[in-house]
Amino acid sequence: MSSDRLRLMAVHAHPDDESSKGAATTARYAAEGVEVLVVTCTGGERGDVLNPGYGPAPEGLEAMRAVRRQEMAAAAAALGVRQQWLGFVDSGLPEGDPLPPVPDGSFSLVPLEEASAPLVEVVREFRPHVMTTYDPSGGYPHPDHIMCHRVSVEAFAAAGDPERYRGRGEPWTPLKLYYNHGFSLVRMRAVHDALVAAGVESPFSDWIDSRQAREVPERPVTTRVECADFFAARDAALRAHATQIDPDGWFFAVPREVELATWRTEDFELAQSRVPSTLPEDDLFAGIRGTEHAR
Ligand SMILES: [Zn+2]
Repeated sequence: MSSDRLRLMAVHAHPDDESSKGAATTARYAAEGVEVLVVTCTGGERGDVLNPGYGPAPEGLEAMRAVRRQEMAAAAAALGVRQQWLGFVDSGLPEGDPLPPVPDGSFSLVPLEEASAPLVEVVREFRPHVMTTYDPSGGYPHPDHIMCHRVSVEAFAAAGDPERYRGRGEPWTPLKLYYNHGFSLVRMRAVHDALVAAGVESPFSDWIDSRQAREVPERPVTTRVECADFFAARDAALRAHATQIDPDGWFFAVPREVELATWRTEDFELAQSRVPSTLPEDDLFAGIRGTEHAR
């Protein structure tokens, strides 16, 4: 592993999450020469086919896993990043009232230390300066997203401690941990308003209503990364997840010129930092870049 480049690790629950949360940011940093590694906790085996144009759904967990591996490889290529699997099994999104139990053996049921060990190992091998993950709510009520948050926080805390996770590699201390906030209410409202003003039908009013109804507290955005030049790469990565992403769906409902005029950044919350940095930031590597920490 090269020791003189900045390194960014984006931890995600399922294949496709890296393309819908912070994708353009990873593409931008990769294009600038930062080493970027997407880590995907689960194989996405229990994802439904959400694209009506896809055709017959792959049958069974194995078949879905195989398809999603191919999709993930194409998405990583579109973003210009490397990607690694942790190998856990998708919990599926429980739906219904009451919610059904999560299937045995799923990622979200694995005890924290056992679930975190493979991530600690990847952190110690890749040695990221910066990690990104989801906030404690998961950002989206999927048990794997909440679990992704938990293992990321655990790995950020423990990877540098030689007493923890022995036999899982040489300790490495990542310096900053961020939460993705691309779906903040403030951004979604701004995009919605811009669509209405442009006379384009907005698909986001139900989304905004349900977000408000769930009373998810808005988290602070500390860091906005300009990445508009990489929105096309983000869109290509999204389309690579053909089982999951409807090319005529709401991910593509915002005309590019409206998006460019409205919101040119992806947004993050600096959750933990071991280096001093001044908020607000416009760079995930603020306080690291050009310092003795960039090793
Ligand atoms: Zn997901």
